[in-house]
Amino acid sequence: MNNITNHMPTAELQAIDAAHHMHPFSANKSLGEKGARIITRAEGVTLTDSEGQSILDAMAGLWCVNIGYGRDELADVAARQMKELPYYNTFFMSSHVPAIALSQKLAELAPGDLNHVFYASGGSEANDTNLRMVRAYWAALGKPEKFNVISRKNAYHGTSMGSGSLGGMASIHSQGGLPIPGIHHIGQPYWYLEGGDMSPEEFGIMRARELEQKIDELGEDKVAAFIAEPIQGAGGVIIPPSTYWPEVNRICRERDILLIADEVITGFGRTGEWFGSEYYDIQPDIMTVAKGITSGYIPLGASIVSDKVAEVIGRDDFNHGYTYSGHPVACAVALENLRIIEEEKIVDHVRDEAGPYLAEKWHQLADHPFVGETTIVGMMASLALTADKSSRKPFKAKPGTVGLMTRERCFGNNLIMRHVYDRMIVAPPLVMTKSDIDVLFERAVQSLDEAYKNVKDAGLLETAD
Ligand SMILES: *Cc1c(COP(=O)(O)O)cnc(C)c1O
Repeated sequence: MNNITNHMPTAELQAIDAAHHMHPFSANKSLGEKGARIITRAEGVTLTDSEGQSILDAMAGLWCVNIGYGRDELADVAARQMKELPYYNTFFMSSHVPAIALSQKLAELAPGDLNHVFYASGGSEANDTNLRMVRAYWAALGKPEKFNVISRKNAYHGTSMGSGSLGGMASIHSQGGLPIPGIHHIGQPYWYLEGGDMSPEEFGIMRARELEQKIDELGEDKVAAFIAEPIQGAGGVIIPPSTYWPEVNRICRERDILLIADEVITGFGRTGEWFGSEYYDIQPDIMTVAKGITSGYIPLGASIVSDKVAEVIGRDDFNHGYTYSGHPVACAVALENLRIIEEEKIVDHVRDEAGPYLAEKWHQLADHPFVGETTIVGMMASLALTADKSSRKPFKAKPGTVGLMTRERCFGNNLIMRHVYDRMIVAPPLVMTKSDIDVLFERAVQSLDEAYKNVKDAGLLETAD
């Protein structure tokens, strides 16, 4: 038995953690100096740490705990499935009931003719599948030179070699020789920082047409697909102008390229619809899902594929798959999670109650002297910190300095709110009640007040020229 328990002193746990555990997106050196925050339990929307503090989780873990923590039903289903059939693979003409049942359920929930499911263990793997699948699709149609994939700067599609290349984050590309060949990045629809003097609507059209220009540049017969998140999540909850998606739809239709909607965050209720593609009326050929599909209780990802693409891919062996593709325990947990979302009308709750209430509160933050804009769709929201409300100019300090100082104050006030450079973002569990949202709001205001003062005192309340 492992003797590392929740009852060890925090400092000891932190020391062992720093000595032996390499964390994603963290410098282990600073973990050694500061010590990780160690979470020991969670219930509903609240985490408990090793010091006994109660923390409001306004990020739903990493955007995934849609139904909230502590749902015994998911644990019970997992235990039952482990006893009955803990594992069998879906390679070589094998199948099992949980994968069959979940595939049928996802086909029913997903819009349009997205009726076929290829499983992975998370979003990165599913996007790697998508990259190979769109290229294999065109090759099977006798057009192997339709190979290039267009994505966007500041997109997030995961961190594997394929998905990290599809993503457009400079910090990821700078390590390990990414992007791999055949992937091209166009501008993002981020009006606040990049829109200049244009209206958001003009800017949305302009950024969508960069797709058309890139297709022209590469040649339509050389482009396999365009991939995008309906709303960029890790990029800072960038909500595109209303003109953006209709124009992208038009271009993909006219130019005979496939459209991949990465719904890893926007899927399963986050926008107040089942999928972001419904919110924006996007017509994807493939949809990437993960995170909320199991509310994060167990790893699972998938590509949900249209009739058109599945028919072509299905003509021959698709030499692709993961040991855990369609893992029975993960599929069983996903099914139970989806049952809860449906029966408890959690998507309606986001659209009609929690979302509108969070929006009302969130937009009140726009009055704060430290806040340049507030944006929200459903239960994903962001705000821009600013030194000058009138100009939309970034801070003079290195991007992220002020955001990090603000996140520190949120942590100090037992609120998990993330920063992406100098934007603050939330994506709470979808089951938040109005009184949870009141607590979120109070702590956010207090944290903004304190951070504003700290930033001012440090002489950082200054815009770039
Ligand atoms: C988190 C995320 C991924 C990657 O999923 P993992 O399960 O971490 O591999 C891909 N796309 C989007 C939009 C994400 O938010």
